[in-house]
Amino acid sequence: MTAPDLRPVDVLTVAAVTQVTPSVRRVLLSGTEAAVAAAGPTVNVLVPRVGDLAPRWPHVARDGRIVWPDGAHGVSLRSYTARRQDPAAGEVEMDFVLHGDGPAAAWAGAAEAGALLGVAGGGALGDRPAGWLLLAGDETALPAISRILAAAPAITTGVVFVEVAGPDEEQPLSAPSGMTVRWLHRGGTPPGESTLLADAVAGLDRPTGDDLFAWVAAESAAVRTARADLRGRWGLGRAQHHAIGYWRRGRAMAPSG
Ligand SMILES: Cc1cc2nc3c(=O)[nH]c(=O)nc-3n(C[C@H](O)[C@H](O)[C@H](O)COP(=O)(O)OP(=O)(O)OC[C@H]3O[C@@H](n4cnc5c(N)ncnc54)[C@H](O)[C@@H]3O)c2cc1C
Repeated sequence: MTAPDLRPVDVLTVAAVTQVTPSVRRVLLSGTEAAVAAAGPTVNVLVPRVGDLAPRWPHVARDGRIVWPDGAHGVSLRSYTARRQDPAAGEVEMDFVLHGDGPAAAWAGAAEAGALLGVAGGGALGDRPAGWLLLAGDETALPAISRILAAAPAITTGVVFVEVAGPDEEQPLSAPSGMTVRWLHRGGTPPGESTLLADAVAGLDRPTGDDLFAWVAAESAAVRTARADLRGRWGLGRAQHHAIGYWRRGRAMAPSG
């Protein structure tokens, strides 16, 4: 029996899957208006083990805490970004990087219409409006970067660095005309082992004035280096930057059920 202060997680259904680039799979999910509205911009996804037709979903407590069932449940908690949310249409779109390992990447690789994905709350992207923006990330950050760019006023200036494997991993980005988008190709270097992103930030001079904001999301070590540079050389305070590791090389983001 379920305790009265626990509610079931929202479960979305895959409506369509598109291979956007060789390593990115876009999953269109449908659900109730409320579930879609709550699923982003960043979203806690509950990923059933591939082939598990009867996952034991957790519940959500009143304070938002996820309450797991006892024993094996076949569900893993991961963080993703809703690239597009349309609550009225009951649709949310997420882009999954297929890195070949891990429950979420495996689920996305196998997902087809009718597959289920749980969602349990979301959060903000961490960006703030500013006259000059630096956005730096790898392919896991592209959904967030495209949302931040879409919301940026047309007069925004700045620079966008995106690290991807190569030209066929680039995606169209619609940016204000005063923002320069630079794609960084790591070629044969495995993801998480390149220093391209941190080097690109290190090669950038700090713009004058304080109306600026830096947003960085990628593999944790690259983010750490860029964050130290932005805090040290650029002297950015906490309100002027958001630099978060989106994944860790060689480590799962959380245990799996
Ligand atoms: C707020 C937030 C938003 C995010 N949004 C997105 C998003 O929209 N799309 C997206 O694809 N990811 C996104 N991520 C990153 C995603 O949560 C991680 O990549 C996560 O580790 C994937 O889970 P998994 O179950 O596939 O792999 P895990 O079980 O976590 O890890 C298994 C193995 O895969 C490796 N690994 C994990 N991610 C990658 C990667 N990208 N490339 C290469 N190796 C990897 C790990 O080092 C580990 O060795 C986001 C992360 C955060 C914190």
